[in-house]
Amino acid sequence: MAKKKFWYKKMVCPLCESEFESVRVFSNAISVKKRDIFLRPTYQDVDPDRYSLVTCPECYFTAFESDFDKILDTMPFVRLDMLRNSLARAKQNLTLNLGEDRTIEDSHNIQILGILTYIQADMPFKTAQLFLKMGWYYMDKNDLENAAISYSKALKQFERAYAEDKKGEHSDGIMFYMSSLNIQLNQFKEGFKWLERLIKEYRGSNSHYIKAAQELWEEVRGSD
Ligand SMILES: [Zn+2]
Repeated sequence: MAKKKFWYKKMVCPLCESEFESVRVFSNAISVKKRDIFLRPTYQDVDPDRYSLVTCPECYFTAFESDFDKILDTMPFVRLDMLRNSLARAKQNLTLNLGEDRTIEDSHNIQILGILTYIQADMPFKTAQLFLKMGWYYMDKNDLENAAISYSKALKQFERAYAEDKKGEHSDGIMFYMSSLNIQLNQFKEGFKWLERLIKEYRGSNSHYIKAAQELWEEVRGSD
């Protein structure tokens, strides 16, 4: 019998108080097949990125599962109001499929909703991750213009995240993505600056971004 991939978690929406069940992926159903030079993963079977955000089917409020219950608690009233308005607009324009069989288009729509939340919550690190994945979506469609726009937005948010927390637990990853995004946007000088800094600051540590940074360095420098 095939392994079960999905389970359902009961959730209560913190914005509209609807109760609903959200599709979750069993962690043992997730297996990375490979990562490219910029660390973008390809999965064996289920792509967990399609399910990492939880969406209320009533009001479309969307956040990562770990933030879903509490992210609105710290949001100023004005921003909460702006989020409500943008969700109402999104609801008129987006058709969602929140089931197990969601496609990359469904996942893209859910990411748009997630970005609305994280921009209003002013959380640059998570906003950056969503813009990065949006860039991957456009790359797969060969829409290079929108991919570059998404990557630029991701880069801007990673820069903000780094400025706020230079020695934070994610700063090695942030530096890696600042270098890889700059390189993909043909801003090589800036890209190498961050690669150098990452390698210098984390040499000898157990950061798994070190090896990736060295490989990226060799790949790009080697092709000069
Ligand atoms: Zn709701």
